[in-house]
Amino acid sequence: MKMICFGSSSAGNSYYIELQRKGAQPPVKLILEAGLPYKEIVAKAAINQINLAEIDGVLVTHGHADHCRSVADFKRRGARVYANQYITAGDPATTLRAGTAKLIALDTTVVPFEVEHDADEPLGFMISTGVETILFVNDSKFFKARMDGIQFDYVMIEANYDGQVLHFALENAKKDNDLGNIRRYERILNSHMSLNNCIKHLKQMDLSKCKAIFLMHLSDRHARQYKFKEEVQKATGIQTFVCKKAGGMI
Ligand SMILES: [Zn+2]
Ligand SMILES: [Zn+2]
Repeated sequence: MKMICFGSSSAGNSYYIELQRKGAQPPVKLILEAGLPYKEIVAKAAINQINLAEIDGVLVTHGHADHCRSVADFKRRGARVYANQYITAGDPATTLRAGTAKLIALDTTVVPFEVEHDADEPLGFMISTGVETILFVNDSKFFKARMDGIQFDYVMIEANYDGQVLHFALENAKKDNDLGNIRRYERILNSHMSLNNCIKHLKQMDLSKCKAIFLMHLSDRHARQYKFKEEVQKATGIQTFVCKKAGGMI
């Protein structure tokens, strides 16, 4: 797999991946999340020598702007945007439903599954080409999908906040009677993934063949990238990268 992060935070998410396919087939090229302004995606693609005309599909997890902002721009240019019925307006060719596998390109299947998040039908994805299998979970407090017997080659998963840091911030906001921040922090607790929950999910997966974990959507205020990278690496024994807000990885 090749993965390039264009941007990863509540300000906007977009990732480019290439997955190997069988035999002499060229790799499948996908954009995961269209949550940056289209111009920015075009610019980041150009910097990384990616030709957007060669993209086999765009996959979007849910209808929040930081994940779907430029869906209309992609559609206008003829790209296939795979997402839930609210984003695709029910188009049967591109609508994803939890639990129903969909062939999105030659030898490339996505199995969408439900995740817990405060949006209409938020989805996580298992994407497989038969050669490489990846898990993609962004914006999710947790997910219940069974993944028994699936060996992930790569995992891309949200690690939004450090539970201790967020609880401390919430306590302070309560002390100050800062209603705006109280509401904001409670929303994060109820709809995003803590570092602990991320590690818990990772430990339940078969990572025996996993080559790398990519952490996404870290909070500016409630996450420390090097700590997250180290803790996940220590807990799983697998090389871990953090996707940066403005693109790239550490
Ligand atoms: Zn988000
Ligand atoms: Zn969201």
